Amino acid sequence: CTPDRIINLCSNHSFANPTSPQLLNSTNTLSSLETDGLDGYFSFENNQHAAKDFGNIYHFLPSAVLYPKSVPDISTTIRHIFDMGSASELTVAARGHGHSLQGQAQAHQGIVINMESLQGLEMQVHTGEMPYVDVSGGELWINILHETLKHGLAPKSWTDYLHLTVGGTLSNAGISGQAFRHGPQINNVYQLEIVTGKGEVVTCSAKQNADLFYAVLGGLGQFGIITQARISLEPAPKMAKWIRVLYSEFSIFSHDQENLISSENSFDYIEGFVIINRTGLLNNWRTSFSPKDPLQANQFNSDGRTLYCLEMVKYFNPDEAKAMNQSIENLLSQLSYIPSTLFQSEVSYVEFLDRVHVSEKKLQAKGLWEVPHPWLNLLIPKSRISEFAEVVFGNILADTSNGPILIYPVNQSKWNNRTSLVTPDEDVFYLVAFLSSAMPSSTGRDGLGHILTQNKRILDFCATAQLGMKQYLPQYNKQEEWRAHFGSQWEIFVQRKSAYDPLAILAPGQRIFQKAI
Ligand code: FAD
Repeated sequence: CTPDRIINLCSNHSFANPTSPQLLNSTNTLSSLETDGLDGYFSFENNQHAAKDFGNIYHFLPSAVLYPKSVPDISTTIRHIFDMGSASELTVAARGHGHSLQGQAQAHQGIVINMESLQGLEMQVHTGEMPYVDVSGGELWINILHETLKHGLAPKSWTDYLHLTVGGTLSNAGISGQAFRHGPQINNVYQLEIVTGKGEVVTCSAKQNADLFYAVLGGLGQFGIITQARISLEPAPKMAKWIRVLYSEFSIFSHDQENLISSENSFDYIEGFVIINRTGLLNNWRTSFSPKDPLQANQFNSDGRTLYCLEMVKYFNPDEAKAMNQSIENLLSQLSYIPSTLFQSEVSYVEFLDRVHVSEKKLQAKGLWEVPHPWLNLLIPKSRISEFAEVVFGNILADTSNGPILIYPVNQSKWNNRTSLVTPDEDVFYLVAFLSSAMPSSTGRDGLGHILTQNKRILDFCATAQLGMKQYLPQYNKQEEWRAHFGSQWEIFVQRKSAYDPLAILAPGQRIFQKAI
């Protein structure tokens, strides 16, 4: 049962001895819990999958995995550990689809709760003036899309990839090209059902138990386990017009992006990415995009320059195609891209939203999906983005990147600042995502060590230049780093922890708090 690799970068974290009497006592009592009548069950063996995530860098084996069939299965388990107090070393991590990057959904010798087992709760779509869907915290966004479409509805705000769970993305933010208008997914939730770190089941919303509601949204799993969520919906379009244009000047590219997100009458989705002089599947894996006019694309010669691609989508229904085309023509006429680089495609709404899954299948077929992913996601204030681009794209990554680099601005005014998510202190900031893949046995430019060093150079630059950057999907190992990350919100984060998970049982893989034993 030994994990194949453990990287323990956690200097202030001590791990329990696997044979400690406390731990054996704790796991024995879990077995008795099971006999006392859980709807689901515990697995005490062959749990290696729960020590793995998309990052594929950290591997912490749990003592047990709970496959809950009901919310009481989760609350009984947590209450049991809570009642044991410091006599139990067990911690608990909810695991959604396990697409974390650094063991955030793992629990070293603790209990992992397999949230997808809860999926059995029926999704309930409510139509009407403010439509919504009630879903289990372990539901995948792709399933929610298919279910709500049966009613002509869909969520407003997405992630680029839909094979992630509601609980997993709501614990972070859920950011994609719709967030400039609708805010991230955490701003498009009406109500949650939570099991706190004391084992209590609490319903919360902006009006009821509001402190817990906002604490959990973007709360990195620290305050409770999301067992149900009420997600707001809008009428779903049938089609998406998908457009890409290229720029060779960063300043013109970002100016156009910022203009587009400032207008109400704009595209429905706005993102962008950096094209550094590299080709190959690993660098282009998000490209399920196939334009109607590929000849034009081939004719464009980048001469090895770094290029910036603006990606835009307008949703439409087939009977609105004429008006949609006019509106797009008007919007494009205000942009200053390289004229020969207009690439357009029309796809169904589902095809567009599920685009990364197509690429996932391609990479899986080549054995390139399960490699280490040392991803780095940053939020950079608009006032410093040119400086960031100059140093990072012009110097640190001047001639190489190990995967796609996304870059797009969002409007802070559309984001609710009562949640636990921390963002830069400016009206507009950029999401910059370095989505690197490392070749398992490589020590060269494609290797994990090299990419981690590059990530560190980027982080060091942000710190030295005092850019006011905040990490998204943050990765820190020491509490003082977390304190700096949360800044003025740290105190409230700590207060909420002591209110809702006073023994620090939940989400140990975030490495923010340590359970008292
Ligand atoms: P997990 O990895 O299982 O869990 C993440 C954290 O949430 C853990 O701390 C876990 O304990 C906690 N958690 C899980 N379920 C619950 C629950 N029910 N209640 C409370 N806590 C819980 N993010 C974006 O914002 N935008 C994107 O476009 C985007 N694209 C991505 C594309 C890919 C290919 C991948 C791998 C990730 C992407 N992400 C994106 C990041 C993703 O949103 C997060 O990694 C998310 O946490 C993954 O969801 P999950 O269900 O796999 O969560």
